[in-house]
Amino acid sequence: MPKWMFLSLVLSAFTLEAHADDMPCENPLVSVTGQHPRVAESICDAVEDTEALFQMCNLPTLQRLIKIRIVDELTPGCVAQFRCDEDRIEILAPKAMDTQRNRDGVLGFLPIDTYFHSIVVHELAHTVYDDEQCPFQSCIVANEYIAYAMQFMSLKPADRFAIRNNPALNRHVSRNALNATSLFLAPDLFVKNVWAHLSTRKDICTYVGQISNGTVFLDRDRH
Ligand SMILES: [Zn+2]
Repeated sequence: MPKWMFLSLVLSAFTLEAHADDMPCENPLVSVTGQHPRVAESICDAVEDTEALFQMCNLPTLQRLIKIRIVDELTPGCVAQFRCDEDRIEILAPKAMDTQRNRDGVLGFLPIDTYFHSIVVHELAHTVYDDEQCPFQSCIVANEYIAYAMQFMSLKPADRFAIRNNPALNRHVSRNALNATSLFLAPDLFVKNVWAHLSTRKDICTYVGQISNGTVFLDRDRH
């Protein structure tokens, strides 16, 4: 092998290694780490889509530095998490996510790539929720609802149609049923209620805007 070729191979391996460890997205606020360069690229693409979606749905754009770490393991039952104290999202690589995700859940029918993309959007929505509009101790229900709403809106119309027509979601869920007690004590039921509530909204983006700017409250005082 000519010497120059060896050098080039070493250099490209080095570049790949650096790339795999820490990849800045086109959006200068977001970088991705983890040994999955192709997945990192798909996350950066999802960040671009997310910015457009947030703008369309009356949410603020990304404003803080966010590190997204691709991991191969998380707590059972968890496919991603946002650590707000560290401005860090941890997300399972698609293969691990496919094993861990709930196949019987509302989104169980989605191909893993679509599902993965929707999870990135969900977690990014948590990073833009503004607590300043919250007059209570916590607005965790609003925060979670907006994240699911953006996840729903990130899907193709055909997938949204399938969710809206899921017979298990064809029931009235009052705003009162979406509460912090249910979120903590019966998380599965809470998520189903959120999907059912969402799937009956005619204009999700307007509703999300009203929650985000404090016109509509999903949380309440816990005195
Ligand atoms: Zn969430």
